[in-house]
Amino acid sequence: MKKVHNFSAGPGILPAEVLQQAADACINFDNLNLSLLEISHRSKNFEAVIDESRELVKELLGVGAGWQVLFLGGGASQQFAMVPYNLLRENGSAAYVNTGVWASKAIKEAKILGNTKVIASSEDKQFGYIPKGYEIPTDADYLHITSNNTIYGTQMKSFPKSSIPVVCDMSSDIFSKPVDGNQFALIYAGAQKNMGPAGATMVAVREDILGKTERKMLSMMDYRVHIKGGTMYNTPPVFPIYVVMLTLRWLKKNGGLMWIEGVNNAKAKLMYDEIDRNSLFKGTVINPEDRSNMNATFVMTKPELEPEFDKMWKAADISGIRGHRDVGGYRASLYNALPLESVQALVDVMQAFEKQYA
Ligand SMILES: *Cc1c(COP(=O)(O)O)cnc(C)c1O
Repeated sequence: MKKVHNFSAGPGILPAEVLQQAADACINFDNLNLSLLEISHRSKNFEAVIDESRELVKELLGVGAGWQVLFLGGGASQQFAMVPYNLLRENGSAAYVNTGVWASKAIKEAKILGNTKVIASSEDKQFGYIPKGYEIPTDADYLHITSNNTIYGTQMKSFPKSSIPVVCDMSSDIFSKPVDGNQFALIYAGAQKNMGPAGATMVAVREDILGKTERKMLSMMDYRVHIKGGTMYNTPPVFPIYVVMLTLRWLKKNGGLMWIEGVNNAKAKLMYDEIDRNSLFKGTVINPEDRSNMNATFVMTKPELEPEFDKMWKAADISGIRGHRDVGGYRASLYNALPLESVQALVDVMQAFEKQYA
């Protein structure tokens, strides 16, 4: 198979060996002579998959007793609703930081369920920076933040300290570097950006924050129901969970979060150095501190040359660098499984392009 440099923003690239193992399990799982896709989720072989996946998540987040890990359907978008539904009291309030499209969608859902305050926003400058120095209300039920802004290419390099529970949407930078999970009360992430295929969303939650809303709860929307059911209240997304387990095994085997942070920093440096150096390109996030190590967004200084550039990178077997449909330009997603050599291939094209057109 020809190797394509896959910069897709999501679903994103997965390690080749993980794809091979996942393909094998679709034919013959655990030497059962049965496919992973045709056995009971309550079989002991699959129970082992769930257990290992949850343990790997807890280990990588550094969280212990009192934390529960779930794998739910509905995508990260379902969590936009489940978070306020489970945490926002009828007469309480929620605080949100608005750093882009995903945060805005989370805010929209919370507003339907209760009193929701946007305490900081970067909307005034097209979400091109991370707001800082804002005050967090001490009486809010929780603070909601988005660690990485997949569309606008910004990333929180540190997290707000707060006495209230902090909820973080980590969909697009989960497990890209060491992060102490204990500074949060709830972390969620759709699997398809950095740890698996679409279809499973990881939720890690400190159990003591649940059950305080006095809301009458719908079962499928209630974290406690899913916890009680061992993340099998209903049939869980078995295949995505299996691939998450394989990806986290791959991560751990290669050296874990310290290792991947080094790899990701090297890729981001190579990418941004070229964006800043090359006269035909410029970054859309100005402050280097706010630039995402996962999604590098940039535009052309001469946009009329875009069709020529597009021809050139496509000819170099590069895929998926057009920007999000709402913002245009380009976006190179540098998720964990993308090798440094793929970034080098893109940088080579940008340099060849500059030689020809600058
Ligand atoms: C992709 C993304 C989402 C939406 O995920 P779905 O699984 O499609 O619902 C939410 N938040 C962030 C930060 C994302 O990158």
